[in-house]
Amino acid sequence: MITRLSRLFLRTLRDDPADAEVPSHKLLVRAGYVRRIAPGVYSWLPLGLRTLRRIEDVVRQEMDAIGAQEISLPALLPREPYEATNRWTEYGDALFRLQDRKGGDYLLGPTHEELFALTVKGEYNSYKDLPVTLYQVQTKYRDEERPRAGILRGREFVMKDSYSFDLDDDGLRASYAAHRGAYQKIFSRLGVEYVIVAATSGAMGGSASEEFLATSPVGEDTYVTCLESGYAANVEAVVTPAAAPIPIEGQPAAVEYDTPDTPTIATLVDWANAENVLGRTATAADTLKNVMVKLRHPDGKTEILGIGVPGDREVDDKRLEASLEPAEVELLTEADFAANPFLVKGYIGPKALQANGVRYLVDPRVGEGSAWITGADSPGRHVVGLVVGRDFTPDGTIEAAEVRDGDPSPDGAGPLVAARGIEIGHIFQLGRKYTDAFDVDVLGENGKPVRLTMGSYGVGVSRLMAVVAEQQHDEKGLRWPAEIAPYDIHVVIANKDGAARDGAEAVVADLDAAGLEVLFDDRTASPGVKFKDAELLGMPWILVIGRGWAEGTVELRNRFTGEAEEIPAVGAAAAVLARLRG
Ligand code: ATP
Ligand code: MG
Repeated sequence: MITRLSRLFLRTLRDDPADAEVPSHKLLVRAGYVRRIAPGVYSWLPLGLRTLRRIEDVVRQEMDAIGAQEISLPALLPREPYEATNRWTEYGDALFRLQDRKGGDYLLGPTHEELFALTVKGEYNSYKDLPVTLYQVQTKYRDEERPRAGILRGREFVMKDSYSFDLDDDGLRASYAAHRGAYQKIFSRLGVEYVIVAATSGAMGGSASEEFLATSPVGEDTYVTCLESGYAANVEAVVTPAAAPIPIEGQPAAVEYDTPDTPTIATLVDWANAENVLGRTATAADTLKNVMVKLRHPDGKTEILGIGVPGDREVDDKRLEASLEPAEVELLTEADFAANPFLVKGYIGPKALQANGVRYLVDPRVGEGSAWITGADSPGRHVVGLVVGRDFTPDGTIEAAEVRDGDPSPDGAGPLVAARGIEIGHIFQLGRKYTDAFDVDVLGENGKPVRLTMGSYGVGVSRLMAVVAEQQHDEKGLRWPAEIAPYDIHVVIANKDGAARDGAEAVVADLDAAGLEVLFDDRTASPGVKFKDAELLGMPWILVIGRGWAEGTVELRNRFTGEAEEIPAVGAAAAVLARLRG
């Protein structure tokens, strides 16, 4: 097919959109692929839609190849199934809820576990029907707190979601492995650089789970790897090795001190060293920092929670949130402090929390027998030598402290290295959470009912377009891998001469006849403008019919390598085809 730029519904922009920070967002808007309608809500213009469709095709081919079957469920869903699994409330503010004219509650589907479980229940009733994997490529809705970077994090976005149904755990493991393999094929066909990391299962519930993260400095996920063992995990999923217990007997008694003007860890450490309270150099790691948060539970109840972490570490909000899900984490307000006068800002200690019934969770490094410098619950006072298991007993541990470059790997094999990534896929072994909620049983071989076990698997289809743009662009514009480029080749006439124009028409017709999708810049604009646009739009090959025409040559440029090659004008189409297919 030939698409003429003179007719294409496209206006490229010279300037970056004001709201864009990351390169993929700037370029996809400037190149006229997408247009913003509202925060996290975008329209697809012709080039964007073609690219999206091609990504969808790759995803469909690989899903079909593992025997998954495509169906399509509505995005507009009734409340009841999500009520049955409690997700109507647990999903929190990210769920778009709406009412119909009769006052019935509906939602816009953020993910479809409930509906797929019900769909299988509705059709199947015998073990002979299993296993089955169903998928859809569908628009999802999530009222993201921070929609970001254009289509990278939208509130309306396209996801491939699939769901496997098996009779037993072995079957589930096989379905999971098949998806893992399919995802590896999808992402390598798209030319994405990625890692597979251990993940937490989040709002889905369930057990084994891995994420596919595209490596990118603009990624919102941080993951760690251990080069020695190959261990790789999202920081949210990193489990801190528990500290070995230390004998309590013989440790000096805790002593309270006046420590005026020491509301921060730095000032406290300075004080401890000035007074030499430990008999050695004190560091931030000797202090116990107590961070207060307010939890909003799915039932609407709130709870104040204390979290104790070694003072040399910050609390990582994402790890904290992942650990406390489905409760939502909020900061305490001044009113909360006023209502709880035992919370002395800058001097909060474990004792007052526990004396006042506040749940207190600590970092796993705060182990049995460890001694700490921490708040003594009155202004300008701290306690030294407060021992876990003797002077206070936490209500449990929590993975909330930041994971740092160089921390020991949980498998003990060596240090962790941190990097950033963008989540492009997620695979879960859900187990029976959803089949239990809806009694999804089939008649087993022995005549008894068998409860099915389920997996759920997502690919961010629209996000992938931004990810490829992010990983592949250069300073001139987009660069699409041949597999998903909106057109195979971009032909530019850069010669006003009538014979050159006719020649270009002939070459383009030949390329079309050979089955290529051709974008043909037949406009009267200047060569400079046309070259700039060709680089911005990002087709993998650019064929220039320019000054060389009179001498019988055309120029083939590779958008990825930047290499240009003069080829004879006679038989140009055949030569181009050979290069493209080579
Ligand atoms: P994230 O941590 O980025 O919010 P998630 O854990 O919420 O992702 P899943 O619920 O597992 O994501 O959804 C499956 C896939 O859908 C993700 O791996 C991601 O590629 C994509 N995705 C999720 N949220 C968005 C969004 N707001 N915009 C675009 N793609 C998204
Ligand atoms: Mg999310």
